[in-house]
Amino acid sequence: MDTVSLTISFYDLEQEEQFYLLRRFLAPGIVEINSKTGCHELQKYLDVKGYGRLQAWHDGTKKSLKLHRLAFEFFNETKIPSNLAILHNCDNRKCVNPAHLSTGTLAENIKDCVAKGRNSKGSRNGNNKLNEAQVTAIKRLLDGGMSRVKIAKLYGVYDTTIGNIARGRTWRHVA
Ligand SMILES: [Zn+2]
Repeated sequence: MDTVSLTISFYDLEQEEQFYLLRRFLAPGIVEINSKTGCHELQKYLDVKGYGRLQAWHDGTKKSLKLHRLAFEFFNETKIPSNLAILHNCDNRKCVNPAHLSTGTLAENIKDCVAKGRNSKGSRNGNNKLNEAQVTAIKRLLDGGMSRVKIAKLYGVYDTTIGNIARGRTWRHVA
């Protein structure tokens, strides 16, 4: 029997496995931004169909995670039900730009949840607390050239919070 099963949520994983995936996903050189299309194109981890995949352990078995689903979940801080498809609006399978991804069936329902999540994030006035995994991701995004304002919006924090990370005034101990 093949121990690799199909869809699992990033948020079903133990934190150690999440970190392991994020370290590999957000490592330098893995994603390149296509300046024409705005696609964030994976340079590695592509399966035969052209989707990015990484494997992680869950409940004693290896699970395969599609990276565009992981990107959608991670950046929207939402768990996708396994029966829902995540569609590429750009028709580019190796793209992991959360802005190019949307849910398939039951779309309205989920979009609504995500929209509400975003709104509640905004209403917290940028006072969100970051964790180490998020700071690691933020540092990768900064290295990749994403603007501080955009990153601040993604994470629901103040621009100055991102600026402080960029200048090494906070979170210096996080790589
Ligand atoms: Zn794209």
